[in-house]
Amino acid sequence: MKKNKLFAVGIGPGGEEHMTQKALKVLEEADIIIGYTAYIELVKKIFPEKEYIATAMKKEIERCKIAVEQSLEGKTVAMVSSGDSGIYGMAGILLQLVNAQKEAIDFEVIPGVTAANAAAAILGAPLMHDFSVISLSDLMTPLDLIMKRVECSAEGDFVICLYNPKSKKRTDYITKAAEIVGKYRSENTPVGIVRNAGREDESSEIVSLKDIDKANIDMFTIVIIGNSQSYIENGKIITPRGYKL
Ligand code: SAH
Repeated sequence: MKKNKLFAVGIGPGGEEHMTQKALKVLEEADIIIGYTAYIELVKKIFPEKEYIATAMKKEIERCKIAVEQSLEGKTVAMVSSGDSGIYGMAGILLQLVNAQKEAIDFEVIPGVTAANAAAAILGAPLMHDFSVISLSDLMTPLDLIMKRVECSAEGDFVICLYNPKSKKRTDYITKAAEIVGKYRSENTPVGIVRNAGREDESSEIVSLKDIDKANIDMFTIVIIGNSQSYIENGKIITPRGYKL
């Protein structure tokens, strides 16, 4: 009998040590592994003998369609996303495509460590209280709505994690977001910036909100803006939860 098995696998932020046991097991059992070229290179190092299909960035729909087609041929297919596949990854579109098929596909999402908690661990403990996660990419979301979410999060005193903070075309959205947050929070609010968390060239810095423009931010970076209570101690950010020591 055909298996028609499809997994959306979050492979975590970087190397093998950040993958879950379950993700490794699913990749090991897959007949074919599909994903964006950079992530496929990473997985190839762990499972060199597998069959792979790598596609370029911005080819998400094409890539997902290939994954669905392959699973309909009876193969066990693993589609990899960095971090968690359900957070700005491929899980949603895969599920939509699976639902649109006449033939049943057994679909499963395997969670992974997302950039926000990988970065938080490097920065100290910035996510100890309520936080929001916002992507500054306006490829598929209107910029007004993105900035409204930034504003509401700032007003609600959420710690704010900004994914996709900057690209070659979008250079000033992070400045705009920081300005909005500055209406509600001190200019000295700690901001953690982590580039390539969990990867070989990982780097991080902590600046204050007013200096966000001086920081080195690109599309491999995640930015975490503290809430009104967050502070820096011994080079780490702490967002206190309210425990009395
Ligand atoms: N599914 C991924 C997010 C994909 S969106 C996840 O759960 O982590 C791509 C954005 O995620 C990047 O622009 C960057 O802001 C962030 N990101 C992903 N991996 C990262 C890493 N290792 N270090 C820092 N930021 C990362």
